[in-house]
Amino acid sequence: MSSSNFLSGGGELGAVTRSHNWSDSVLGAPESWPQSLRTTLSIILNSKFPMFLFWGPDLICFYNDAYRPSLGNTGKHPAVGKKGADLWPEIWGSIKPVIDNVLNGGEATFSEDQLLPIYRNGKLDDVYWTFSYSPVFDESGTPAGVFVTCTETTEKVLIAKSLTESLSLQQAQNEELATINEELTVTNEELNESRDELSVSNDNLEKLSNNISQAINVAKIDLWSADLSTGLISLSNRSMDNHGLDTGEIISYEQSLQLMDPEYRNAVDTVIQAAISNLGNFVVEYRIIPQNGEKPRWIRSSGQVYGDSEGKPFRISGLMMDITEQKDENQRKNDFIGMVSHELKTPLTSLSAYIQMLLAKAKKEEDGFAANALEKAKKQVGKMTTIINGFLNVSRLEAGKIHINHQRFDMKELVREVEEEVVPVNTSHHIIFHPVLTTWVNGDRDKIGQVITNFISNALKYSAPGTTIQISCFAADNASQVSVRDEGMGIADKDLGKLFDRYYRVEGHQMHTVAGFGIGLYLCSEIIERHSGKIWVESTVGKGSTFHFSIPIVD
Ligand code: ADP
Repeated sequence: MSSSNFLSGGGELGAVTRSHNWSDSVLGAPESWPQSLRTTLSIILNSKFPMFLFWGPDLICFYNDAYRPSLGNTGKHPAVGKKGADLWPEIWGSIKPVIDNVLNGGEATFSEDQLLPIYRNGKLDDVYWTFSYSPVFDESGTPAGVFVTCTETTEKVLIAKSLTESLSLQQAQNEELATINEELTVTNEELNESRDELSVSNDNLEKLSNNISQAINVAKIDLWSADLSTGLISLSNRSMDNHGLDTGEIISYEQSLQLMDPEYRNAVDTVIQAAISNLGNFVVEYRIIPQNGEKPRWIRSSGQVYGDSEGKPFRISGLMMDITEQKDENQRKNDFIGMVSHELKTPLTSLSAYIQMLLAKAKKEEDGFAANALEKAKKQVGKMTTIINGFLNVSRLEAGKIHINHQRFDMKELVREVEEEVVPVNTSHHIIFHPVLTTWVNGDRDKIGQVITNFISNALKYSAPGTTIQISCFAADNASQVSVRDEGMGIADKDLGKLFDRYYRVEGHQMHTVAGFGIGLYLCSEIIERHSGKIWVESTVGKGSTFHFSIPIVD
């Protein structure tokens, strides 16, 4: 029986105790060992539970077959009987203190699932152990060895660990789920609130839309639209009716132009084409001759041109209103103003004649008081005549009764005439006529003269005495341009665009002291328009204004 039999453990204890050739053994001479040790070894080697023993001052190690699987393929089997320090250098630092403790105190110790990494299968493995270390006493009763029962619990620990991990993972997932659930609940509540708000908004929108429809209906406003790709126009039923068209009839843009009074066709078409080319908006007023032969009607139409994503015009949406009644009403008002003005003109002319006669008589009789009073009366009658002429002109203009008597004339001469009329009678301001150049134009000399006079009389009215008024006449852009500049109160930007509208006067405390009806500039713009000219103003509040007009030069 060789020592290797002993080294291989169990069943060989008999050999150990009875007839082993101990000289082959690394164990020295077991025959000399105490009986108690041999008994212990026999228990160890035969046990099916992993056990080993550290013995003597060198802590020589013995382990049984049951322990071998824990070692893996380490090549350490023949090392049984070696010093523990040499056999397990990787863990010796951890277990030596435990051994020393047991040897010194004689107390057994127990540890569960302790990590003691060992070399096995060619690598350092994290191995967990549950073990008990108990002292083994020699015959003198002194602790001479340590008996270790141990079992590897790596698998159990790893399972427990992965269970813990998966539990905590599960817990984290549960917490995450709970958070998501809470968020979902909040979102749901918000959704419910939004739904409620949406339904309230929908109700409001419906009410608003009904109100708008009613308002549109009451105001007799109609919606219309034009598809620019097909050139077809869709009109509301009432608009169809106004145009004398059958309900449901679809008309083209061309047909809609044909329904207009020819007088307005070109102007309306030009405005709409301009809006289409710059994706803008427009407002036009024109007369239509309904298709069913009914009497002409006046229409005000506004529209906005919309472009597609590439900015190509594709649709016009707008509003249309039958303004025939307003126009008729206006006409009646104009007729009335015209009639009253006309009726006032005759007595005013006689009044003026009587004043002239009386003035001549007073001067002859050297009645200074009467002459003075009559001069003032003459001035007032002159003002009244200007006002009445203004009203008469407006009513004539509206009735289309203003005629432009075209003649070729030199603007230079006209400006000089105005200068001669204006300068002697207006000494309150410095009126400067700049040198003028010859510019031939074709137009109504009297009416263009009226425009220049109007510019100058406004400059006198709306600037302080002592300030300067400058008049210039020159050629610019193939047109004859006249400009009148003052150093007066100026005009705010918001009013500039409306200045040439009928009856428009700027509001403000200074205006109460200045008489006027807001018709002078309206007449001027109508006159210039009829000469295919331009009229405009530049102004700065508190600094002054410059009014300009220009009409084309002719050879
Ligand atoms: P009127 O002077 O009779 O009111 P106009 O049509 O000539 O009517 O002028 C319209 C308005 O334009 C005036 O009421 C005034 O507010 C403003 N306006 C005209 N000319 C001037 C000017 N030179 N300076 C400041 N405001 C002016």
